[in-house]
Amino acid sequence: MSKLFEPGTVAIVTGAARGIGRAIAVELACEGCNVVVNCRTSNEAAAETLRQVEAQGVRGLIVEADVSAADEAKALVDAAIAEFGHVDVLVNNAGITADGLLATMTPEDFNRVLQVNLGGTFNCMKAATRPMMRAKHGAIVNISSVVGVAGNAGQANYAASKAGIIGLTKSAAKELARKKVRVNAVAPGFIATDMTNAMTDQAKERTVANIGLGAIGQAQDIAHAVAFLASDKASYITGQVLRVDGGLII
Ligand code: NAP
Repeated sequence: MSKLFEPGTVAIVTGAARGIGRAIAVELACEGCNVVVNCRTSNEAAAETLRQVEAQGVRGLIVEADVSAADEAKALVDAAIAEFGHVDVLVNNAGITADGLLATMTPEDFNRVLQVNLGGTFNCMKAATRPMMRAKHGAIVNISSVVGVAGNAGQANYAASKAGIIGLTKSAAKELARKKVRVNAVAPGFIATDMTNAMTDQAKERTVANIGLGAIGQAQDIAHAVAFLASDKASYITGQVLRVDGGLII
């Protein structure tokens, strides 16, 4: 069966050591991409992602970078170009939570979540945009959240960062369309990862009760949507937000 990507396509996936990021990295590899596996600090989890990427018969590279720092995000893109010569796909997946009610949320927790989720996405997009524009070719997929569309009590910082990613995606899509660089977002619903494992059983039950398809999503569900949007199968799609949430918000 033919693959979604031409051999030699290069993809960067941020926060790819575990969870949704790992699933995206492996899916892109499975569909023919060489994959740059970004992690905050190199560890066994990142090495396992790399192993799974290379098992698909493509090349992989681990690059340590805290995407919330502009110079590290630039170094990440530079490392990808130094190794592979070009970057075709950027997936901004790295993200954190620091939940709390608005009345008690500290400015530090508000700013940290904005800086990693929204700032990190901006930093990587800024670094990758110039080479993509020069090549008149590229696809960027940003991971937002249904929380960025609908809001969520106890996640004002996270929701603001994910809503910001939607505005950033649409603005960049308008700026870059003439240069043949597409920018889209995927907004996952409730997906089984370390991030959601931190929720109480009660909170999980309440959430699942509102999911039309009646089940928690898997990281693979997000990876499939990302691979599609990053590929030429989506060559006429830009500036869109694809919700992958089992019908949580319709
Ligand atoms: P996760 O299991 O907590 O993984 C997050 C990844 O991001 C980790 O590998 C983490 O690295 C990395 N990361 C965090 N800060 C970083 C930074 N400053 N620089 C580089 N990497 C960084 O989360 P997940 O559930 O897979 O979520 C992945 C993305 O999907 C996030 O953007 C999240 O907001 C979004 N999302 C998730 C859900 C869900 O239900 N799970 C729903 C909607 C949206 P370390 O290993 O070093 O911590």
